[in-house]
Amino acid sequence: PLAPVLGGELPAPLIDGTTVRYVNLDYAASAPALQEVSDYVQSVLPYYASVHRGAGYASQISTSLYENARRIVRDFVGGRADDAVIFTRNTTDSLNLLAGCVPSEGEVLYLDLEHHANLLPWLQRPHRSVTAADTVDATAVALDRELAAGGINLLAVTGASNVTGEVLPIGRLAEIAHAHGARIVVDAAQLAPHRRLDVSGDEIDYVAFSGHKLYAPYGAGVLVGRPDWLDAGTPHLAGGGAVKTVRVDSVSWATGPARHEGGSPNVLGAAALAHATQVISGLSEADWQRHEGELRTALIDGLSDLPEVTVHRIFSEETDAIGVVNFSVNGYDAGLVAAYLSAEHGIGLRDGKFCAHPLLKRLGLPSGSLRASFGLGSRQDDVERLLGGLRALISNGLGTDYVVDQGRWVP
Ligand code: PMP
Repeated sequence: PLAPVLGGELPAPLIDGTTVRYVNLDYAASAPALQEVSDYVQSVLPYYASVHRGAGYASQISTSLYENARRIVRDFVGGRADDAVIFTRNTTDSLNLLAGCVPSEGEVLYLDLEHHANLLPWLQRPHRSVTAADTVDATAVALDRELAAGGINLLAVTGASNVTGEVLPIGRLAEIAHAHGARIVVDAAQLAPHRRLDVSGDEIDYVAFSGHKLYAPYGAGVLVGRPDWLDAGTPHLAGGGAVKTVRVDSVSWATGPARHEGGSPNVLGAAALAHATQVISGLSEADWQRHEGELRTALIDGLSDLPEVTVHRIFSEETDAIGVVNFSVNGYDAGLVAAYLSAEHGIGLRDGKFCAHPLLKRLGLPSGSLRASFGLGSRQDDVERLLGGLRALISNGLGTDYVVDQGRWVP
């Protein structure tokens, strides 16, 4: 492991009555909090007090934790000095917020490989989509062509696929979008926990990500980006704090992050998210990428020795990828394999359609597949455990009978 995470030594009970160390291969869904983040949360918890409008000492501390968190997050993504940093519930919330601020005269363009969080908010407004091509290059060309047709004011693209881990060239896509007078928003829910972002260097207009995939607790996410659309857009959460003045039947809305953060904010969540970014920034980038790259390669190599297993990719060529591997076991329902790996080998991984129905359909996987994903607490023996479990399944079959209960396979 590169940094200790909570639950790194959790016991998992197996169906035969024994217990093994739990192997978490589901970092892409939610990453366990870093030990350092947990310690930090404990240290600031006593200062729990209302922010902004409280004059007391604890309120001052709480307010400075919250406002400092904005600066820390802006630094983490390499943001511009005037970028707004708005705290939200998660990536989904951030992208919905932005959707309420995109000027109505243009269309939003997106690829068909997106997570639903970066697709459904755009469906509610004028939009167009493009099918990702066979290669990253051809996909960029297809986006360029669509943007050249005109009328698009925002390109919404993921930094890394939550299904396959493949990374998109966001700097290059930003250049293409800008050449046609459009802006770009990057859904960095998967990218931010695995790669350094450089919003100002890559000229990214907006970036969104979630704390719970970045080794912080649930409940806090962020949207960072250019303030003009955000200051003119519909307030995301109308309420206390989001206003300049209020009369009984009219309002003058605030500008800046406050406009969208009505109600009491999630101070602890924002501070924990910011602290997690500081811990991650302290890691050597080379170690960080080598760690997950080695695990991913070891898993893909091991899977390629199993003829019954198919690894799924979006692009036909090898591309840069984060620690995510998507696969199926021929002849077995993905949900059944996931249930078996949990009950008989103590492994947690993801099965299903990963909130990316259009992509799964296009990959020929309408009933879903399996996803193993790595993070800072992952180890080489996690890969061995998964490969061992799959080998056992393929040669011996299931050790017990499984039935479907409430839509999931159970022993
Ligand atoms: N985008 C991507 C690429 C994701 O992987 C996810 C989470 N699976 C989301 C958006 C949504 O994140 P959240 O559930 O935290 O809003």
